[in-house]
Order: sequence, then C-alpha cells, then structure tokens
Amino acid sequence: MTTYPKNAETRTFRVVGLPGDGIGPEVYASACRVLSLLEKTHGLAIQLDEQLIGGAAIDATGDPLPQATIDACERSDAALLGAVGGPKWDGNPADKRPELGLLRIRARFNLFCNLRPIVTHPALHSFSPIRPERLENVDLMIVRELTGGSYFGKKWRNDEEAEDVCRYTREEVERVTRAAALIAQQRDRRITLVDKANVLETSRLWRAVASRVIEEEFPDVQMDNMYVDAAAMHLLTRPADFDVMLTENLFGDILSDEASMLCGSLGLLPSASLNGDQFGLYEPVHGSAPDIAGQGKANPYAMLLSVAMMLRHSLGCNEEADTLEQAIHHCWNEGILTTDLRADGFTTSKVTDAVCNRLADTVPA
Ligand code: NAD
Repeated sequence: MTTYPKNAETRTFRVVGLPGDGIGPEVYASACRVLSLLEKTHGLAIQLDEQLIGGAAIDATGDPLPQATIDACERSDAALLGAVGGPKWDGNPADKRPELGLLRIRARFNLFCNLRPIVTHPALHSFSPIRPERLENVDLMIVRELTGGSYFGKKWRNDEEAEDVCRYTREEVERVTRAAALIAQQRDRRITLVDKANVLETSRLWRAVASRVIEEEFPDVQMDNMYVDAAAMHLLTRPADFDVMLTENLFGDILSDEASMLCGSLGLLPSASLNGDQFGLYEPVHGSAPDIAGQGKANPYAMLLSVAMMLRHSLGCNEEADTLEQAIHHCWNEGILTTDLRADGFTTSKVTDAVCNRLADTVPA
C-alpha cells in the first residue's frame, strides 16, 4: 500500500463505474459530473468504464457480478459504486441477490481494509443526536478488517445450537495494521486498537501482532488499546480524542455505524475498501434507498466524498481530493443540502451544480 498506480505520472486512470440500483445511478451521475469537471480543470484523464452490478446486473445477465465487471475491475485502478439492492429482488434465491455482487467483489479483489472517515462539520452539528460541544474537531478514521473474523469463519446451526467461528491469522492482522499505520502517518500518528482482549483469544493475537508491527516498522506511530465496550462509550462521549481506530470485522461493523450518528445523516458518509495493491472499491455507506429513488432527492455528498477518497487512496491525486472536499465543505457552509437534512432542501442535481460551480471557481493557476 505504498506505491501509486504506474500511470500516476501521466495522470491517466481507469475507473470502473458501477451505478447499481435505486438511488445508486443518481448519485453515480453526480460523481461523473464532478470527475468530468476535474478532468477539465485539473488535467486528469479518467477513463470511466461503466459496468453492471447488483439487481441491474441480475436483470440484464442473471448474475449479480457478471464476468465482464470482474474483467473490467482487473484492468482498472479503482471502482466507484452507487448502491445495490431493492424490493424488486428481495424474493430472489440466495445466489441471485443483489448484495451478493458486493460481497463477491470484496472477496474477489481481496478488499481487506475498509476505511470509514468520520468527520463532523460545524454547519452540520445540529443534525446529529449528539450534543454539539462533543462534535467539535471530530476527525477520526475507522480502519475495519473486512475479509476475516466471524463473518467468514466456519458456520453451522441446528435447532439446538449454532456456531460462528472467529478466526484470524497473523498475516491478516499484519497487513491491516500496516495499512492503518500508513494512514496514521498521514494524520496525527495515533492508533487505538479496539478489541476484547480480556476475553477473546483472537483479540490477544491482534494485540500481540499489531503491537509488534507498530514497534518494529512504524516507530513514529503511537498505538494504544481499548476494549470494544469502552470504545462504544467513548465514541459518543469524547469522539474528538480518536485519530485512527483499528479493529476487526464485527467490532468495526458495529462501531462504524454507531460513529456515523456523529455526522447526522447516512447521506454524508463515504467509504473505501482497499487491497494491498492500491485497488479500491469506493462507495457511499448508504444503500439504494428505494423509498426516494427516482425523485431527485438523493443526497450526493456521501458519493462525492467517496470520489475524494478514491482520488487520494487509489489514484494518488491528493490535491484534487483536498479541493473536492473543500468545495463540499463550502457548500455545507452555504446551507446547500438535500431534503434529508432540511425540509426546503435542494435536489440532487442542484447540489451537484453547486459543488461543480465551486470547483470551477478553484481552478489551479
Ligand atoms: P438505505 O441506506 O438504502 O436507506 C435508509 C434510509 O436512509 C432511507 O429512508 C433512505 O431514504 C435514506 N437514505 C439513504 N441514503 C440516502 C441518501 N443518499 N440521500 C437521502 N436519503 C438517504 O438502507 P435500507 O433502506 O435498509 O436498504 C435499502 C436497500 O439497500 C436494501 O436492498 C439493502 O440491502 C440495500 N443496501 C445496500 C448497500 C450497498 O449497496 N452498499 C448498503 C446498505 C443497504
């Protein structure tokens, strides 16, 4: 996770576009507009290769992750996904469910490192259920291991008993710890390892392996440990104290949803899932929101922040990522929000217009 794509110097990149279902294509259209503007204003060349995933792929090919989509990802630097799923496919058999496309792409490309930034912004404090004074200066990155633990361990159930095996290997812990440390080096150089080492053997392995990796390979990064129950409390009482939070799959799933409440709306939260070769799948945290699909009400900010993450983590375009985030923050300050946040809010395309206008005003000299 240290080198950028070989085409970083020419600033020419291939990105697979996966609009998906429901509001997926609507927020994906916003992302395309922003990328196309960045090409004009910032000298990037991004070849978008649009492919099918989820329900749209089932309808067209019978498969939620067609081979053509896998092939396109193999040729690309990153993939940008809207969302998958919806009531139309709810009754489908297990091998024809839209969500399977997502799980398979994560497994196929070994996307073991899930990043969820949680950043509060003063203009949005009033939308969070947490007291505003606790939201000041919150800027934390949750690094969740995404391809191991009890979600992927052996499972069985009968009428009397059930078991989900939680297994981690040294190598799995090492690689995600290194990824977290590299991210910490670009931030405040502090990692909180969240576990349950007072009870679980897997947590004790995590502590031993992660501490050794940090000590031997990242002496400039400071790591402390916190039990997951304490972390769940501290996330709400003193969220600004965290820099990078590193944790295993199940704990990360729960804590990242809890932390999302600090920001106020699902429509504001981006995510990235990375492998060790700089390829990443970038997507909003929200789903396909079938209740508002096709009405122009989708909040595009989570998707646009996912584009910024893609520029930074897979394409090495840090300056463009910063510029896009600054344009988004400017729009928040101006109250340019969709109806999930204010009753008299703007449509998806009006919000996208505002972000594009701001970007156009910040063309480099
Ligand atoms: P959801 O995130 O789609 O919607 C939850 C609520 O938040 C809805 O009221 C919705 O209108 C609102 N919402 C979500 N995103 C929004 C946005 N950008 N702007 C404005 N409002 C927004 O979750 P759900 O209703 O539980 O799931 C709907 C479908 O999405 C299901 O089929 C589910 O399986 C799927 N899903 C997909 C993903 C993914 O693609 N990564 C993630 C979660 C859920």
